[in-house]
Amino acid sequence: MKAIALKGRNICVEERPDPVPTKNEALIRVTKAGICNTDLELVKGYMNFEGILGHEFVGRVVEACEKEWIGRRVVGEINIPCGQCEICFGGDPKHCPSRMVLGIQQKDGVFAEFVTLPLENLHALPSNVSEIEAVFVEPLAAAIAIIDQIYPDQNNDALILGDGKLGLLAAQVLQTRTPNIFCVGRHPRKLALIEKRGIQTALDAGKWDRKFDFIVDATGNPQGIAEALCFIKPKGKIVIKSTFEGLAKIDISALVVSEIQLLGSRCGSFAKALEFLKKETLELESMVDVDFPLGKALEAFERAKDPEVIKVLLTP
Ligand SMILES: [Zn+2]
Ligand SMILES: [Zn+2]
Repeated sequence: MKAIALKGRNICVEERPDPVPTKNEALIRVTKAGICNTDLELVKGYMNFEGILGHEFVGRVVEACEKEWIGRRVVGEINIPCGQCEICFGGDPKHCPSRMVLGIQQKDGVFAEFVTLPLENLHALPSNVSEIEAVFVEPLAAAIAIIDQIYPDQNNDALILGDGKLGLLAAQVLQTRTPNIFCVGRHPRKLALIEKRGIQTALDAGKWDRKFDFIVDATGNPQGIAEALCFIKPKGKIVIKSTFEGLAKIDISALVVSEIQLLGSRCGSFAKALEFLKKETLELESMVDVDFPLGKALEAFERAKDPEVIKVLLTP
């Protein structure tokens, strides 16, 4: 099969043998995948990952020991826990210390014609979910996870830092809980996508001359947390979504004095994301800039690096 692998810091288009599913796994033909900011960070050295890249995808099961899965259109959770340790038994296996993570940690990803995943990671897609919406299920789940960390209500206001895919998703998701959503980014074209939904946007958070109950750092860069600290109310909560290669520098005293809570936030529930898609109409398809064939992955990665671009898809 054709696959896009990371070797050192180089992205290579390769021919590889088709993966062979183990007893509990399905073999899935990938029909569409999305390049994520995490993929760009992996190329810079984040997690020291080597192997086939990619974790956002939709596909169709071609082989599985439980025959009812065969032919189903699926999305898949990206964490593959060991299932045997204290943390796995404790009920939050996404934190399993010996987990593999699809296309991120010790597990070949989805920028390939085929991928294998444990059956328990799979979610069959309802027919109302389009291929493009399906590719957004993973980041949408990550955005919905914020709600479960801060429990916003309609009296709260929230500022989203970052107008990348995750920032735009977080703004739309939080808007279902409170009308008071603000988003700061660097790209008027991206901000316009959520502005038309009534979300207030700016190129500089100073414009509003106010502070916020909640701030989501979705900048993807080390400066995001420091900026969040400038605009958070005392006792406010900052949810950090950014992962990057390198370290962030922040004023810990400011955090202590104002009793700010910093909350790291990673993956969310696919089941909740699929439920959400049933009820809400989000700007998803309009976030896609371009869809490349898998063999043009090098070009696709170059496009994904362009700061003006929101989402680049790959079709095997
Ligand atoms: Zn991602
Ligand atoms: Zn475990």
